[in-house]
Amino acid sequence: MTTFELPTYADVEAAAARIAGVAHRTPVQTSRTLNEITGAQVFFKCENLQRMGAFKFRGAFNALAKFSPEQRKAGVVAFSSGNHAQGIALSAKLLDIPATIVMPHDAPAAKVAATKGYGANVVVYDRYTEDREAIGRRLAEENGLTLIPPYDHPDILAGQGTAAKELFEEVGALDYLFVPLGGGGLLSGSALATRALAPQCALYGVEPEAGNDGQRSFRSGEIVHIDTPKTIADGAQTQHLGNYTFSIIKRDVNDILTASDAELVDAMKFFAVRMKMIVEPTGCLSLAGALNMKDSLKAKRVGVLISGGNIDLERFCALAAAAV
Ligand SMILES: *Cc1c(COP(=O)(O)O)cnc(C)c1O
Repeated sequence: MTTFELPTYADVEAAAARIAGVAHRTPVQTSRTLNEITGAQVFFKCENLQRMGAFKFRGAFNALAKFSPEQRKAGVVAFSSGNHAQGIALSAKLLDIPATIVMPHDAPAAKVAATKGYGANVVVYDRYTEDREAIGRRLAEENGLTLIPPYDHPDILAGQGTAAKELFEEVGALDYLFVPLGGGGLLSGSALATRALAPQCALYGVEPEAGNDGQRSFRSGEIVHIDTPKTIADGAQTQHLGNYTFSIIKRDVNDILTASDAELVDAMKFFAVRMKMIVEPTGCLSLAGALNMKDSLKAKRVGVLISGGNIDLERFCALAAAAV
């Protein structure tokens, strides 16, 4: 087995310096209604209001800002149909780096358009017959591009950790922090910030019930692989945690919780009606997880990280109208 060095809180601090003035320092919101329901004092870190609509901009910009002059000239390649693609495309545009994004041929037209709108070159593949990682690697090799994966990369996870860093700086230590979990970039980065700034804080990752590979990995001590889970939380349809992310999660996280699609819809409606915010289903995982632990939260100071707000209006309306 190869050994590798894990990033530390110093890498999160360095990332914060790189993204300062470029990424938004997103607001922290509260809800009197939710405080009454839970008996807790809840602080929401609103990455749905981040540039391009999700925290992914933080890690992407941090990774690209570290490129050497040669890497900048040749360009970056990423494979994603979601927020990572847009985070890389926007960061590349801001840093004047050519970007190639590998996307499935049936990706939502709005997402393809947004990615192209940032000036990225979009390469489509057939998700049923072709392997996107192989395509990404081939493009990287043939054209000297640097491949930036969506979560299992030290610069990506260190950048994602800057959101929790800002939260602790703004509200002070917390008793609990809840964070959405896909491949673990956001959770592992948040863990580095939590253990440095609020070491006593209980930290929970929350993933879709249909894809609880993270929970099974955490409890068994080995990375569990699953088929792509069927869930409305499309930002957390990952099949396994990464080597970097799992090493940190295993060491620094208290536990992994799950939330059902119906609970995500309830949270989405709560954000819209009570807090006047559009949050995408994956971004609702943290609130849904916190509500599943409601009885432990009385009189506690609780952080809930809202990870993103990118959802088509039509899909938002359909989810809000349907009983899941
Ligand atoms: C990518 C993403 C996640 C999951 O992040 P990981 O770093 O893969 O765990 C959660 N929420 C949103 C909105 C995302 O785009």
